[in-house]
Amino acid sequence: VVVLVIGGGGREHALCYAFQRSPSCDAVFCAPGNAGISSSGNATCISNLDILDSAAVISFCRKWGVGLVVVGPEAPLVSGLANDLVKAGIPTFGPSSEAAALEGSKNFMKNLCDKYGIPTAKYQSFTDPSAAKKYIKEQGAPIVIKADGLAAGKGVIVATTLQEGYEAVDSMLVKGVFGSAGCRVVVEEFLEGEEASFFALVDGENAIALESAQDHKRVGDGDTGPNTGGMGAYSPAPILTEELQSLVMKSIILPTVKGMSEEGCKFVGVLYAGLMIEKKSGLPKLIEYNVRFGDPECQVLMVRLESDLAQGYPGNYEKGSVIQNLEEAEHVAPSVNIFHAGTAFDSDGNFIATGGRVLGVTAKGKDLEEARERAYQAVEEINWPGGFYRL
Ligand code: ATP
Repeated sequence: VVVLVIGGGGREHALCYAFQRSPSCDAVFCAPGNAGISSSGNATCISNLDILDSAAVISFCRKWGVGLVVVGPEAPLVSGLANDLVKAGIPTFGPSSEAAALEGSKNFMKNLCDKYGIPTAKYQSFTDPSAAKKYIKEQGAPIVIKADGLAAGKGVIVATTLQEGYEAVDSMLVKGVFGSAGCRVVVEEFLEGEEASFFALVDGENAIALESAQDHKRVGDGDTGPNTGGMGAYSPAPILTEELQSLVMKSIILPTVKGMSEEGCKFVGVLYAGLMIEKKSGLPKLIEYNVRFGDPECQVLMVRLESDLAQGYPGNYEKGSVIQNLEEAEHVAPSVNIFHAGTAFDSDGNFIATGGRVLGVTAKGKDLEEARERAYQAVEEINWPGGFYRL
């Protein structure tokens, strides 16, 4: 399979590194990539491909026969790149924009927890500042105020006094410091305990746990100074014992996957759960979801990975990918016939793949050589980014 990794950070470099080692991977592209990815030879970087322009990404995939796209960062996921790729029949690892709301809207995430009994801090959501303040007063400090939408990690205020809580509400709901991301706030109970991260790979219905990993958040030696996006990471994270990991799967990850499926927005991709292992109960509670690998955590996970990152493809082939140019392919050389083993029509009348062995391309010639050449000529003519054949 030809893989395209979307993004250009350490996370994407680590993914390219793992794909390059994968026996089932024929070529690795990375867009936009970075200097290290290209100089390491882990992938061919396509620096001028605009990853927020779905049409450009789709046409690149078609041109180069990309059979698997892995989306690293959240911005293209939230803006719907995975929706567009899947619609174009290109197998994609990463959630739809609807499913990416698990990260993009804290209110959405908390409501899902509520509905499906997933343990998380007690909360209420508000758009009206005085109602929010009234609730803060009732609950008391410390208390946590969060902007609903994406705020680059700055939209969470842990208020140690009521006054700080009121100020956080005013800055989000009245002054609008986070713009539309802060038009709604989630006010939640302060949880005391130790934080841990948990990663699972999800295909819409099933989830498998990855190894645990933890980043170093603060900038200074000995875990001092302000929080950062991550100053490094380690794996495994000893706090997540085997018992805790199976509890996280059972009480948090699997109910989320099931809930998302029931809500009609199946989650496909990496579910990265930010957890608080509560001091008083010792039990894990969900603080936040990210809908992609964390960076730098992805780096330590990929160097520890022993199996094939691209595995499952084509074993677990994507059904429903669009096949085009079949008629042209039958006419590209004399005496070509294409037999269909696993196709159907989609609602637009396109052929789509429904099975593992989808098409048989036959040709006649004066000898085996010529027949073979004609058959492969026809194969080349078929436009089916999700498909593959052997030489
Ligand atoms: P990021 O994606 O950068 O981790 P975020 O903006 O998505 O941040 P959260 O992860 O929800 O926000 O919260 C950021 C940090 O605030 C957490 O890592 C945790 O330290 C603290 N925090 C959040 N919610 C709570 C809570 N209910 N109780 C105690 N601390 C909390």
